[in-house]
Amino acid sequence: TISPLIAGNWKMNGLRGSLDELASLAHMLISGENPRAIVVICPPATILSEVAQLGATAGIQAGGQDCHTQAQGAHTGDISASMLADAGAQYVIVGHSERRADHGETDDQVRAKAEAAIGAGLKPIICVGETEAQRDSGEAEAVVAAQLAASVPEAANFHDVIVAYEPIWAIGTGRTPTNEDIARMHGAIRQQLSARFPEQGPTMRILYGGSLKPQNAREILAVENVNGGLVGGASLLAKDFYTIISAV
Ligand code: 13P
Repeated sequence: TISPLIAGNWKMNGLRGSLDELASLAHMLISGENPRAIVVICPPATILSEVAQLGATAGIQAGGQDCHTQAQGAHTGDISASMLADAGAQYVIVGHSERRADHGETDDQVRAKAEAAIGAGLKPIICVGETEAQRDSGEAEAVVAAQLAASVPEAANFHDVIVAYEPIWAIGTGRTPTNEDIARMHGAIRQQLSARFPEQGPTMRILYGGSLKPQNAREILAVENVNGGLVGGASLLAKDFYTIISAV
């Protein structure tokens, strides 16, 4: 069996005051029943080391939201995977649709970032997902299959790599695919990963992301081949995020 993982992606939200929410979450986790899920918070890099330290008291792990393909060098404004690791991260999100859209990141770059993450000892959370137009025209599975093939590096056969399926039209919109649609997509992703990576594919975590909320977490996280979630908006409030964690 695959131990589930719930990751909070704070995106470009979170000043030092957000550490109060994290402290509340840590308190809930310490005083409540042991969660079944591994809990990860991916804050802005400016507070990553504080999140890693504060989270550790409650078993919460930390992750970055992006990394460069290179380990160091003349790349103003960028952050390398080894720097994230140095700050206390164990995970890093790569290829989020907002990075692909805002910064024109290609599958090749995403794969190079995932390789850099593995090289630095981090577990990459590699994001894929179709647009609404692609879903409407019946191309969703083909689009995701192509992204998956090109974004997940060969090293995934020997390292802990996580895939996150995030339909772009479900991010921040309050809309989600039906459970049947999620099951079909996650099943297709599982099949593709297992065919390509005989060692790790059958047990690789496939997270669902996109408007995951306290109200829908229980049913979505129970769908076959959904091994956890990548949560945006609802990870910013400790109470909501805790409800989602407890839904696994
Ligand atoms: P929301 O949960 O806000 O829809 O964001 C999902 C997401 O993009 C997580 O990476």
